[in-house]
Amino acid sequence: MKIKKGDTVLIISGKDRGRKGVILQVFPKEAKVVVEGINLRKKHRKPRKTGEKGQIITLPASIPASNVKLVCPKCGKPNRAGYKIIEKKKYRICKKCGEEI
Ligand SMILES: [Zn+2]
Repeated sequence: MKIKKGDTVLIISGKDRGRKGVILQVFPKEAKVVVEGINLRKKHRKPRKTGEKGQIITLPASIPASNVKLVCPKCGKPNRAGYKIIEKKKYRICKKCGEEI
């Protein structure tokens, strides 16, 4: 996967299309990502102690990695990142500006 935790991405399909968020988690096996503030789902949290109220919390649910595009921190343009290999080291690069990201 070309996307890493902490990357800023643009949502390109689904109900949150056009929004941006930061990657909180990646699941390379399932090709899914969790993006901050995107695809929020309500979860009920049961009271753990007596006298405590149950809570409803909203958490972002995972979305397919193909629904997001990496936003280049250098030029700010969404793009599918590429890789280049220099002296056997792999670098992720922006396809728009060519900078290492
Ligand atoms: Zn760029």
